[in-house]
Amino acid sequence: MPAIPFDNSYARLPDRFFARLPPTSVAAPRLIRLNRDLALALGLDPGWLAGPEGLAMLSGNGVAEGSEPLAAAYAGHQFGGLVPQLGDGRAILLGEVIDRDGRRRDIQLKGSGPTPFSRQGDGRAALGPVLREYAVSEAMAALGIPTTRALAAVLTGERVLREQALPGAVLTRVAASHIRVGTFQYFAIRGDTEALRSLADHVIARHDPDLAGTEHPYRALLSAVIGRQADLVARWLLVGFIHGVMNTDNMSVAGETIDYGPCAFLDAYDPAAVFSAIDQHGRYAYGNQPRIALWNLTRLAEALLPLLADGTDAAVAVAEEALGAFGPRFAGAYHGGLRRKLGLFSEREEDAELAADLLEAMRAGRADFTLTFRRLADAAAGPAGDADMRALFEDPTAYDAWAGRWRRRLDEEPRAGEERRAAMRRVNPAFIPRNHRIEAVIAAAVERDDFAPFAELLEVLANPYEEQPARAHYADPPGEHERVHRTFCGT
Ligand code: AMP
Ligand code: MG
Repeated sequence: MPAIPFDNSYARLPDRFFARLPPTSVAAPRLIRLNRDLALALGLDPGWLAGPEGLAMLSGNGVAEGSEPLAAAYAGHQFGGLVPQLGDGRAILLGEVIDRDGRRRDIQLKGSGPTPFSRQGDGRAALGPVLREYAVSEAMAALGIPTTRALAAVLTGERVLREQALPGAVLTRVAASHIRVGTFQYFAIRGDTEALRSLADHVIARHDPDLAGTEHPYRALLSAVIGRQADLVARWLLVGFIHGVMNTDNMSVAGETIDYGPCAFLDAYDPAAVFSAIDQHGRYAYGNQPRIALWNLTRLAEALLPLLADGTDAAVAVAEEALGAFGPRFAGAYHGGLRRKLGLFSEREEDAELAADLLEAMRAGRADFTLTFRRLADAAAGPAGDADMRALFEDPTAYDAWAGRWRRRLDEEPRAGEERRAAMRRVNPAFIPRNHRIEAVIAAAVERDDFAPFAELLEVLANPYEEQPARAHYADPPGEHERVHRTFCGT
């Protein structure tokens, strides 16, 4: 019996979908972290993974039985410009397993050496970005937001050269699939409709099996991807997440958050917030994410045109109709989420304005996004909670004016205080991966080989909605000198 029961459906696709090659071995692998719960959910033996054979697999030093390693081809619009060939330049798909719930999951190494798609890159990853992706993706999962997962992080014992020499690391990533909008674009721009169809059939079989027998499966696939993405971006906004590089190659058709590079969470609420050092024009600013998602989905629709209808005009009409559903779907998810964050159980037309006015007061008053909503759960119980709320706003009277309206709205649907507070706490996290915390755990690891702060942060982030009195300080916003203004790509 192989240790891992691989079943590699992507590797059975035509050869032009990927390059087959093993990962490049590393000098001195050392396991930093194994996600035991995720291993168990995947039906894998954590003991084997942490042992010598598992470590060989997780570092790229050995190819496990049944694995068919490959680097996938894809294209992508990066900051609006089309790059016809990107592909896995530093990642290797080891294969797929069927998890405990019967879902197919990719197991991929990131930072595992050069591939035919590496261009100028070294195929490697530095420790810092690996820890960031591990912590933030696991935090997103704990928040209940669709995301790729982190199975393991391994030090390579080698240095990677960035602006300085840094410890190298490999992340083992788990995903529903690694198929991106850019994967469809890759074949579309080559005029390879046969491959496009194979890819669409593969995605339907994998992510949308219910669509297989319908009258227009490719139209339904486009609509399904649009719907998932609208829901996903709404979820991001509701927790203050900024992806940072929403290029079409970083958008998964499975609807998972993927490719954590210069990502960040809002501290003070600001829809124009941009953290990524490479995003000079704010293309991927917090508040721009819905628009960019639709722009990316429009690129997906373009790529799919040959499959949508006979003749371009008919296909374009189909695509436009499908894309037209994005706005309402996003608005429903976003406004429904905001309503729950405000502690409202019923739906009123004026709720959107009530929420928008709070957000505007938060922006003007530089109120912390996460704490404002978390503390609102206490304020809902009565004015005793107002002191803690007011302290978050530069001008507390802006909150006072809003709170009066909010309480009148709450009074229209009375609930026992504890019931409403519990409901609000279930949607308003106390603990998010704050940028300054992430930077601090990376610094401890990189500069002092100390992984204890990383481990503690992961523990806190695993229960974002619980009160954790002993760890309450993890909910604090950054002090003036701790504030992170810029984040950098994983490259
Ligand atoms: P990203 O911005 O991380 O999504 O990467 C964009 C593209 O650059 C993808 O094709 C990556 O595989 C590739 N890439 C990023 N970093 C490296 C690296 N260090 N070596 C080789 N390719 C890379
Ligand atoms: Mg990427």
